[in-house]
Amino acid sequence: MAEVLVVVEHGDGQVKKVTLEMLTLAREVGEPSAVVFGAPGTAAPLAEKLGEYGAAKVYAAEHAEIDGYLVAPKATVLASLIGEVQPAAVLLGAGQEGKEIAGRVAVKLDNGVLTDVSAIAADGTATQVVFAGATIVTSKVTRGIPLATVRPNSVTPAPADAAASPPVTELPVTLADSATLVKVVERVAEAKGGRPELSEASVVVSGGRGVGSAENFSLVEELADRLGGAVGASRAATDSGFYPHQYQVGQTGKTVSPQLYVALGISGAIQHRAGMQTSKTIIAVNKDPEAPIFELADLGIVGDLFAVVPQAVTELQKR
Ligand code: FAD
Repeated sequence: MAEVLVVVEHGDGQVKKVTLEMLTLAREVGEPSAVVFGAPGTAAPLAEKLGEYGAAKVYAAEHAEIDGYLVAPKATVLASLIGEVQPAAVLLGAGQEGKEIAGRVAVKLDNGVLTDVSAIAADGTATQVVFAGATIVTSKVTRGIPLATVRPNSVTPAPADAAASPPVTELPVTLADSATLVKVVERVAEAKGGRPELSEASVVVSGGRGVGSAENFSLVEELADRLGGAVGASRAATDSGFYPHQYQVGQTGKTVSPQLYVALGISGAIQHRAGMQTSKTIIAVNKDPEAPIFELADLGIVGDLFAVVPQAVTELQKR
């Protein structure tokens, strides 16, 4: 069976959910192999989890400084691995880094690249989400090995039937001059306040312009904490300085697909929907009965969020 390379996203020694989703998707096309970039010793502890989701091999592209040079060295290593193993396809997460690596590798190898893929068939035909989720397109790469960036939360990650402990193969990593033109000088960790990561959370409570101020966002946080969820925000809320930009949900923010999405004071513009419309259950609180978010919501509450949310918090406190 042809190999399918999956570029692993990981953090704090854990494999991220989008990687498990990609491994699940990769099994539709061939036999997944995981490619791990990181400092020496990163890949081996991840191998068991990767094997559980079907990775038959793990390629370890490890170098003490690889995380210090943005994506260029990663693109170089991946392009050379693709040339060597000739996989049926290469999957990367559709985040900022995955898209940049895919673009660079596609140029290096003169291959086609598909972005924002939500499904891929055995023959490489992919489903792409375009125009902020308004249109679904079916496409296929016609030149070279297809590279696909996979939209987080598009598939439910499922462990493989026959999970094995995959062997770890070291890949040579050199930081060539051309790959090191840009160096990371500082990393600032995202302040999560002990909450789950937004794009991986099973509950997300988001606030919009209707929340009114940065101070009032404490109400959004309180409900999120009662539900064990992450906090999100609309672009109007982040642009107004109510909440930091890294929590923005939508076309130009993060894509979430939790079990429960609570939209507080959010109108439901198409660009916001693009980041949350695949949530399993959507609850909206909005004082305007005509707000477009109600077209999408499973449960809509027409009311003032400052009256509704404290009542919800009080009820949850009783449990
Ligand atoms: P508004 O549209 O102003 O809605 C506020 C809502 O709050 C209203 O429906 C109002 O009835 C309700 N409300 C007010 N007070 C209360 C109250 N006390 N109780 C209950 N309800 C109340 N937007 C995103 O969110 N994410 C994106 O990634 C994104 N990307 C974009 C990209 C582009 C290229 C463009 C052009 C726009 C983008 N936008 C994005 C902006 C988007 O078009 C909307 O402007 C934005 O989503 C509106 O945010 P909002 O719903 O919070 O604000």
